Amino acid sequence: MATVEQHPAQTQNGAAHAGPEIPVENPATAAIVATVPDLDAAAVADMARRARAAQPAWAAYGFDGRARVLLRMQKWVMDNAERIASTIVSETGKTYEDAQLAEISYGGAAFGFWAKHAGEYLADERVRSGNLLVKGKKLLVRYEPRGLIGVIGPWNYPLTNSFGDCIPALAAGNAVILKPSEVTPLTSLLLAEGLSECGVPADVFQVATGRGATGAALIEEVDMIMFTGSTRTGRKVAEAAARRLIPSSLELGGKDPMIVLADADLERAANVATYYSMQNSGQTCISVERVYVEAPVYDEFVAKVAAKVRALRQGSPDGGPGTVEVGAMTFPPQVDIVEDHVNDALAKGARALTGGHRGQGGGHYFEPTVLVDVDHTMKAMTEETFGPTLPIMKVADADEAVRLANDSPYGLGASVFSRDTARGEEVARRVDAGAVCVNDAIINYTALELPMGGHKESGLGTRHGAGGIRKFATQQSILITPRLALKRELHYFPYTRRGTKRLGRMLKLMYGRGKRD
Ligand code: NAD
Repeated sequence: MATVEQHPAQTQNGAAHAGPEIPVENPATAAIVATVPDLDAAAVADMARRARAAQPAWAAYGFDGRARVLLRMQKWVMDNAERIASTIVSETGKTYEDAQLAEISYGGAAFGFWAKHAGEYLADERVRSGNLLVKGKKLLVRYEPRGLIGVIGPWNYPLTNSFGDCIPALAAGNAVILKPSEVTPLTSLLLAEGLSECGVPADVFQVATGRGATGAALIEEVDMIMFTGSTRTGRKVAEAAARRLIPSSLELGGKDPMIVLADADLERAANVATYYSMQNSGQTCISVERVYVEAPVYDEFVAKVAAKVRALRQGSPDGGPGTVEVGAMTFPPQVDIVEDHVNDALAKGARALTGGHRGQGGGHYFEPTVLVDVDHTMKAMTEETFGPTLPIMKVADADEAVRLANDSPYGLGASVFSRDTARGEEVARRVDAGAVCVNDAIINYTALELPMGGHKESGLGTRHGAGGIRKFATQQSILITPRLALKRELHYFPYTRRGTKRLGRMLKLMYGRGKRD
């Protein structure tokens, strides 16, 4: 029998946590693998006090000093890849390959990326203005760390989506408290160990384990909240942040459409649809959740996808690399949601070409499922399923596909398939989503230079790119008037008839020279 690891909470005086504990389950086997403290508001407030005391020294490291630490951590992630992978697998039930590609590879890339680009994205910017009122003055925009950033994460990617945003927040010179999902807290605790080993000073990065209440308490303590999770919780987070007038950045749910045009490379489109709907058991915010296929190629596309999905091996990833393509469902109640969406579709006339049932045995599984004869009266086409299901719908043409793709409260990601890339791009531009891939899906997430964020109810703000770190900084504009300036500018007191007329002439000269058409 596996031993259950206990993770002591850090408290201000170093005493062990004596409060309630949260069991962490391996969803592939239903075994409890660890317990972590369920921290209350007082413990979070303590952490925040310590973080604030530690932050100025971290800010004083400067970009180069912090980059050295982050690059050490990049190497640490690679040196400890097996340990991280087995921790992720043990608390999520995902396959080794899903942990390797979508988490460890992301972590490695992100530490290097932010080490390299933080200083560039947050460097002082010299600005020029065309306004005569500021002629001759020096104009600057500068960025400073906000102070203490709270990061709240979901259970589907404990490294990438929970810990991932901590990296730019730290690179910007902030202290960070991460509240990982209560379902998957172990990866964050392991990475905290790594950061400390690599030289992040004590209390600059802390992990507040706990449930929703711990997350709510964290919002009350921080200068900015970065949230990734469901749209339902995202709304509560935004409301709490608004009450405190602190900024929030929200990465929320999705219902990503794939559009397959008649001239698409169907073999590639079918491979992408299969992989990006079933990878991580479909528990990816930007997984392919629904497909619209132009009528002439619908049958061929469906046949290809059904055959590929039937061939997938599902089961416990405990057999190690290369043994299963589809692992467990991380969060047991999610299996009920997937089952409900599939049953709702079947009751309304859909057919399951493969799968359609929850898995048998000890862990939490749902069979890889392909649904056809689906439409927008069904939850499987309109609500986030977040499971290994792929509903495919026949459409008359690209216009109908775009209309249906946009018939959603969500707008996170999307994909379009066509051998004519110009046409693919034209269709992509009509889809209301934060990111659209042509002849691919999801992979945009690995280009850390590209902003990633949701339209509509899929979120507010973006991660990655310049915006992905500037949000963790305050922006300050500085205007410097040179030493040899006029003693009195034209618009100062006292107001005089002559001065006012001169100003009027100047305004006309500046803005009144064009013609009206
Ligand atoms: P969730 O909203 O249930 O929980 C997310 C986090 O919020 C957890 O840590 C939880 O403890 C915490 N929380 C709960 N109530 C809170 C409150 N009142 N105040 C503060 N924190 C609170 O989401 P989940 O089920 O863990 O994750 C799945 C969801 O995340 C899906 O909808 C998925 O699409 C979304 N997601 C989005 C992205 C993205 O980048 N857009 C990435 C991954 C996951």
